Amino acid sequence: MFRAVPQDRAPVIVLKEGTRRIYGKDVLMNNILVAKVVAETMKTSLGPKGMDKMLVDRLNNIVVTNDGATIMRLAQFKHPVAKMLVEIAKSQDIEVGDGTTTVVVLAGYLLINAADLIKKGIHPVTIAEGYRKSLKKALEVIDSSSMSIKISDRETIIKAVKTSLSAKYVSQYSDHLANLAIDAVANIAEYSDDGWKVDLDNIKITVKAGGSIDESRLVRGIVLDKEVAHPDMPRKVENAKIALLDSPLDVKKPELSARVYLETAEQYKQFLLEKENIVKEMIEKISNCGVNVIFCRMNIDEKVQHYLARKSIMAVKRVKKSDLEKISKATGAYILSTIDELSKDDLGKAKIVEERRMRAEDKMLFIDGCENPKALSILLRGSTEEIVREAERCLIDGLSIIRDLYVDNRLVCGGGSIEMEISLGLREYAASLKGKEQLAVQAFADAIEVIPAQLASSCGMDPIVAITTLRAKHNEGQSTIGINVIDGQYEDMYSIGVLEPAIVKKHVLKAATEAAVTILKIDDIVVASSVAEKEEDTEGTEKE
Ligand code: ADP
Ligand code: MG
Repeated sequence: MFRAVPQDRAPVIVLKEGTRRIYGKDVLMNNILVAKVVAETMKTSLGPKGMDKMLVDRLNNIVVTNDGATIMRLAQFKHPVAKMLVEIAKSQDIEVGDGTTTVVVLAGYLLINAADLIKKGIHPVTIAEGYRKSLKKALEVIDSSSMSIKISDRETIIKAVKTSLSAKYVSQYSDHLANLAIDAVANIAEYSDDGWKVDLDNIKITVKAGGSIDESRLVRGIVLDKEVAHPDMPRKVENAKIALLDSPLDVKKPELSARVYLETAEQYKQFLLEKENIVKEMIEKISNCGVNVIFCRMNIDEKVQHYLARKSIMAVKRVKKSDLEKISKATGAYILSTIDELSKDDLGKAKIVEERRMRAEDKMLFIDGCENPKALSILLRGSTEEIVREAERCLIDGLSIIRDLYVDNRLVCGGGSIEMEISLGLREYAASLKGKEQLAVQAFADAIEVIPAQLASSCGMDPIVAITTLRAKHNEGQSTIGINVIDGQYEDMYSIGVLEPAIVKKHVLKAATEAAVTILKIDDIVVASSVAEKEEDTEGTEKE
């Protein structure tokens, strides 16, 4: 396959020796098979009644989860198509924070249904075209079915967060976590002409095992996993005036190779005294500015620590740059590149800075009571390390859902109800199309119905009966009916509060369609030699 062989002449080398190429009709079918295996595996973990997967990572750590993004990340797929599906789950997670299982399942079923059409003789490009049209129509259905909410409507936002967290272990605490997340986002969200901007990096989640999730709380400032530098410094400073320093706090080293020659003991004493005077002068200046707390990114010289302590100034050394930036946003302090720049205007304020004992010898530093902080912390507690980590993942998901609603304040009904509306819309649309395209749009509608069908199976309902029942109800105009998986019944999703941000569903549809269309158009895989050697057992039909 690497050579084109002209008649009576030497063959021409086209690809490097060792390169593998998989091509022809079978490539597409193989790729679809891979997507099918991944989608079918992921499908059973969909929804609050979804099954868990147990994964063992390279270091033999065991993870039990039903979170789509986590399963995809840890599964270590080798085939390029499976890796593409991992990528769409990842991007779904990063961009909207939810819908990761759904996106993989939908992409898989779009491909499975495409395979049936290909077997009937329809060209993959025609199917891809039909899928693109379906996507456009489906997005229109979401727009017309969604409802706008006010960003101050806490009750409804909590419902959306709880829907997103309903599949998680710590779901009984979702009310508390949702409230924390709403307050945190409300503080850091910024409004401009372009609408709301929410940068979740301005929320620092600090986890500390011990206590219960209920004891987790919002801190109007920053919590650091740090201690005060010197034992004689104060452990608590009220009405803190804070300086932030991006360089070490010590007596300046002599420039480059300058040397000081000391010949007598007297000179040496003088030298030390001089150094001490410089330190004293520096501390005097800091103290005169009114500083009573210093956070330093680098080290603080022992002598400097000692004199700071004498002036009752609290200092913390080796604070991460990213934390300094957050403290700056929370307190209004300016980050100084050297202490020489210090002036009163650069200081930040906090009601209190305190080192608190968390458990046994564990201490943490709280900068609390900031006025209008533009960055803040959530301190997460929970009985074990595993539980606080899980609570952290839930909190991150909740924060993403709230950010989504700030960016686009529209919600749709979950529990398979929006999917049934989309399928209804697509079937009506298909009737207006001709021949092969019509089949592709119907295939898209069938694929999206896999979501309600799976939610039905997950709670012991017959999926075929569920789909026909839901179709009938949606046809009658009961547009918010879905599956209540908790008690296995058809119910109005709006009234039971199963609500999801419209942009999550839109992202699912766009990403899944894009992946399916991309895979449908691949008819050739070329694997570079070094990769080919490493991945000897990659699936596929090989042809020479
Ligand atoms: P994903 O990773 O795609 O978000 P989940 O496992 O979180 O997958 O399941 C999400 C699906 O579960 C959504 O379709 C959502 O509407 C549905 N869902 C969540 N809570 C409920 C509920 N109480 N009843 C019915 N469906 C629910
Ligand atoms: Mg989810």
